[in-house]
Amino acid sequence: MRLDLDRTPGGRSFLAVQGQFDLGFGADGLSLVEIGGDLCVDNLDGRCLLRGELTAEGPATCDRCLAGFTLRFPVAFELMVLRDAGHEDEDADSPIVHQRSGLVDLHENVREAVVLAVPQVRLCRPDCRGLCSRCGADRNTGDCQCRDDDVDPRWHDLPD
Ligand SMILES: [Zn+2]
Ligand SMILES: [Zn+2]
Repeated sequence: MRLDLDRTPGGRSFLAVQGQFDLGFGADGLSLVEIGGDLCVDNLDGRCLLRGELTAEGPATCDRCLAGFTLRFPVAFELMVLRDAGHEDEDADSPIVHQRSGLVDLHENVREAVVLAVPQVRLCRPDCRGLCSRCGADRNTGDCQCRDDDVDPRWHDLPD
């Protein structure tokens, strides 16, 4: 996960990025994430702008039904490498690295982008029906016996 400034052509090129991160969120959060994708590299005027959308995926637990599934999410990435000191007035929208030549290690920057992009709500599918609040059955696999959610369960004990 590095950009070789000495071998990056002038103008636009692409950099394939692939790697694995341990985000360390703990046992019930997302932890191990694979990342991949291509970044667009614009190398001109003493600066090199890397930009693109990577894809991250890793094993996660559904917030609604608690099933394990593979979560995929997009990771927006942007990094400016300034190769000479004449560009200090850049709009500092993207993180900036100062380096004239050689290899730029992207690992930490990509990791930060992944951490920012992790979805707050993680569902196995957008329409996951979750678990029945009464009996705990997985409602994705079919309806449980608790059909009449607004009927007080005590009514069931009354004789006809
Ligand atoms: Zn689910
Ligand atoms: Zn139920």
